[in-house]
Amino acid sequence: MNAILSLREVSKSFDKTPVLHPLSFDLQPGERICILGPSGCGKSTLLQIVAGLTQASGGGVFIDGKPVEQGSLYVPPEKRPINMVFQDYALWPHMTVRQNMAYGLRRQKISKQEMNARLGRLQELLRLNGLLDRRPSELSGGQQQRVGIARALATEPAILLMDEPLSNLDIKLRTDMRNELAALLGQLSIATLYVTHDMMEAFAIADRILVLRDGAIDQLAEPHQLFERPASPWVAQLMGYHN
Ligand code: ADP
Ligand code: MG
Repeated sequence: MNAILSLREVSKSFDKTPVLHPLSFDLQPGERICILGPSGCGKSTLLQIVAGLTQASGGGVFIDGKPVEQGSLYVPPEKRPINMVFQDYALWPHMTVRQNMAYGLRRQKISKQEMNARLGRLQELLRLNGLLDRRPSELSGGQQQRVGIARALATEPAILLMDEPLSNLDIKLRTDMRNELAALLGQLSIATLYVTHDMMEAFAIADRILVLRDGAIDQLAEPHQLFERPASPWVAQLMGYHN
């Protein structure tokens, strides 16, 4: 199978301080990889490079085999078949839920009919019925993030990026949404990179978990393999092994 996303020796430094060391991995069509690691290890930076919101310092990024960043070549975010869900929702406060959901569709040449059909499907899928004319401030945190997810899915991206989408929710809601999101992503089978510092979330959602530590990949494996064969003392500790 051909990877939908490939990173080859991608690195990033800010002011000569390395934040990501050259790292490579592939995301397969329909696969969900969770990038798991503590605060500051480079998770958001990695996601932003894939989205095109930050340029890498070196290496190549390929979508469906075609380079989107390599040497002087750089494809801007709006030209990549990617969409992103943010930790703080990043909804437009002055727009209704419907307008927020349709925002990414401005550039897509789709008919009004197709747009309404998509919004209707997403409204059902994300349980937003009856909320489409509200503004974000009139929604709960969980509802706002559902809108953020609907907005990202509306463009039918080849790759979905999620950066700690549940971290702003309180603990009870986070548990409910985690299960809901795991079911939703399973049903959609869209290639997803999902960033989290929460192991429970990674285990609920991931086909494979990429453990990132200090800007380097410690292990990339199926969840059960992290338990059974942790590749480093760090992963072992993360899995709850005590020495
Ligand atoms: P994470 O998402 O895992 O918490 P980040 O990718 O946000 O980590 O950040 C990784 C490191 O890069 C941190 O040390 C952070 O301070 C640094 N960093 C991130 N963005 C910038 C920036 N624009 N300028 C300078 N340093 C940055
Ligand atoms: Mg982050």
